Amino acid sequence: MPKSFLIDTSRCTACRGCQIACKEWHELPANKTTQYGWGSHQNPQDLNANNYKLVRFSEHLDGDVIRWNFFPDQCRHCVEPPCKDMADMIVEGAVVRDDKTGAVLFTEASVKLSEADFEEVRMACPYDIPRRNENSGLMSKCTMCNERIHSGLQPACVKVCPTGTMQFGEREDMLKLAEARLESLKKDWPEAMLADPYDVNVIYLLIDTPENYHERSVAANTAGPMSKKQFFATLTRPFRAMKA
Ligand code: SF4
Ligand code: SF4
Ligand code: SF4
Repeated sequence: MPKSFLIDTSRCTACRGCQIACKEWHELPANKTTQYGWGSHQNPQDLNANNYKLVRFSEHLDGDVIRWNFFPDQCRHCVEPPCKDMADMIVEGAVVRDDKTGAVLFTEASVKLSEADFEEVRMACPYDIPRRNENSGLMSKCTMCNERIHSGLQPACVKVCPTGTMQFGEREDMLKLAEARLESLKKDWPEAMLADPYDVNVIYLLIDTPENYHERSVAANTAGPMSKKQFFATLTRPFRAMKA
């Protein structure tokens, strides 16, 4: 049985301990950042090869009240990962899935993906997660801290979270916990919902509508340009391979 995360955004204070723990465990260097836009506290502005986890900030008006929603964004370790489906058509083994934990992992072989190939893999992801390390050419994203799990430890981000926002364990247990928390939160937050719980191993509990969080807090509409792109990639792949 694969593992899953439950991320209950109603408990997140945006302390960003998870973001830092992730960088520390994976020995990822700091980014040069600047304040941007209308003064958001989100930092850095987006996921990148040195940030597998990013706490996104969303500020909006609810009547006269300012609401501030926090969304600790990371790879969802999809149950049937579209990034792997796409990568398999280009470089077999660039993306693999650990059946024991459910972790979706980018391997050393991902360096063989050209920039254009990488964009196809990135576009296949409904949550816009993969990034390319410009120095090494490797694809980068959250690894579920797979090596920690195999050693009986929790993911680094879960371990440091001081508010109980993040839970990690057997998928079945996390789904049950998610349903139970949703039920109790619905009393105060009628809009509360679970984001794509049956498609992903990182289950988000939202207390506001998805558009009041991060734009990819739920899966992008795959009936749009993305699936068309995948469709054309399927048609052109053998031709491109022949040319190579
Ligand atoms: Fe939110 Fe926990 Fe991350 Fe802090 S460590 S930002 S409370 S998820
Ligand atoms: Fe792949 Fe994106 Fe799913 Fe992560 S969230 S497993 S990168 S498709
Ligand atoms: Fe980072 Fe590990 Fe958490 Fe993924 S599971 S966001 S790699 S600390």
